[in-house]
Amino acid sequence: MSEAIDPVGAGEGLTELRRSLGGAVLAPTDEGFDEARRCFNALVDRWPAVIVRCLDADDVARAFDFARAHALEVAVRGGGHNPAGHCVCEGGLVIDLSLMRGVDVNGDARTARADGGATWLGFDAATQRFGLVTPGGVVGSTGVAGLTFGGGIGHLTAQYGLTCDNLIGAELVTPGGTVVRASPDENPELLWGLRGGGGNFGVATRLEFQLHPLRRVQGGLLTYAESGIRDALRRFRDIAAHAPRDLSCQAVVTLDESLAPTLIVAPCYTGPDADPEELRALRTAKGLDHDAVEAHSFLAQQHVFSPGYGVDRNYWKGHFVRELPDELIDELLERIVALGRPPGQVLIESLHGVPKDIDPASAALGYRDAAFNISVMAAWLDAALDEQSIEWARATAAALEPWSISGGYMNYMQADEPIERVRAAFGDEAFERLQALKRRYDPDNVLRRNQNIPPASAR
Ligand SMILES: Cc1cc2nc3c(=O)[nH]c(=O)nc-3n(C[C@H](O)[C@H](O)[C@H](O)COP(=O)(O)OP(=O)(O)OC[C@H]3O[C@@H](n4cnc5c(N)ncnc54)[C@H](O)[C@@H]3O)c2cc1C
Repeated sequence: MSEAIDPVGAGEGLTELRRSLGGAVLAPTDEGFDEARRCFNALVDRWPAVIVRCLDADDVARAFDFARAHALEVAVRGGGHNPAGHCVCEGGLVIDLSLMRGVDVNGDARTARADGGATWLGFDAATQRFGLVTPGGVVGSTGVAGLTFGGGIGHLTAQYGLTCDNLIGAELVTPGGTVVRASPDENPELLWGLRGGGGNFGVATRLEFQLHPLRRVQGGLLTYAESGIRDALRRFRDIAAHAPRDLSCQAVVTLDESLAPTLIVAPCYTGPDADPEELRALRTAKGLDHDAVEAHSFLAQQHVFSPGYGVDRNYWKGHFVRELPDELIDELLERIVALGRPPGQVLIESLHGVPKDIDPASAALGYRDAAFNISVMAAWLDAALDEQSIEWARATAAALEPWSISGGYMNYMQADEPIERVRAAFGDEAFERLQALKRRYDPDNVLRRNQNIPPASAR
């Protein structure tokens, strides 16, 4: 059907591409195309010329060849969750990895190999069969590769570090079609770059992770009502300052339907105590409105947040901060009131615990020293609210600036962040090393629909 329409002016080429692939090609006239082009952020509405659903590394190389031959921009789609909408481009070619979702676990070695399009739901289900975990994302449909390459913060960060700290190997197809492996023994500089440097160097067809034994946790959500929010947030902050190694914690400040501020805290405790002190402190804080914390499986914990997909328009902006002083807590509470309507939230992720123990030289990312990652997440349905919502997110994020260290979190950045913010997320020295890697693996910057690291110029 699509050959008749010839969406990319490729004629026989598209027919040949379809024949040569183990996977599938979707053209705009094909059934399912509209769904396949959509991403998490409804603000992003792009129509690619062709979506190539790859089955393996050969398919990825063929997709790159085709894009080069027809001068098409390339976007890479894993789980389709990046809020910047980087998984889709207008009039270009999408390398879609949704047919590559397999996960193999080696229970004895405590390692897992995930295909390039694996999502956390599949990853966690596979590793939990062996009673093992790696610290991943908190929403099951998020892509493993996309999240890992930006760092990775979740329910087990304090216990086992950032997701990328647990990445021990990867296989990539470069835009030139070469298959490259990264591990501590093979191309270690590339492994360093993949730990935070995003999808800049190639399409990962396989990632290998270190796993840890864990089956059950104490977790869930604690909800606080208006009068107690300030105190509960301070308590959350003070607990993080004590850096418990067996308690990860995130907080969300939002508005309820009556426009009253609400605080939701998501603890995840993995230690041996039935009633651990820090968790008790959170559960007895003034203003606690609903306590849904319980002992449950790790997989149940991975379901405590379940946002819709492709529904809301989103604009996120944030900063890593060195501290969360009372003054900033007050400011954030004022800003959430100023939002004036749900949805929309401020997410505060603690980076205490193991991320601080890891040798900073092992990863490209530059925010390990931060106390918290604070992200202002405007979300709305009506296009008429675009300008107002974006402005709220920008103004609220600006209030964080006095406490900011390094740039924002690559995984939550919008496409309009200036290169200075991307550079600041790594620091000058690491950014230049990343630029050298980019020049080696993607000298023509084919993979530029991302938080881009431009290749170092030839000397
Ligand atoms: C609802 C929601 C929940 C989230 N939860 C968390 C969380 O708990 N913790 C956290 O740290 N982040 C979280 N994120 C952010 C998320 O990690 C990043 O946005 C990440 O980029 C999403 O990856 P993806 O594959 O799902 O997205 P996509 O939009 O498909 O991909 C984003 C980019 O990642 C790169 N990429 C993806 N797969 C590959 C691959 N195989 N090879 C090379 N490059 C690749 C490409 O550059 C691609 O454009 C969340 C985002 C959303 C929307």
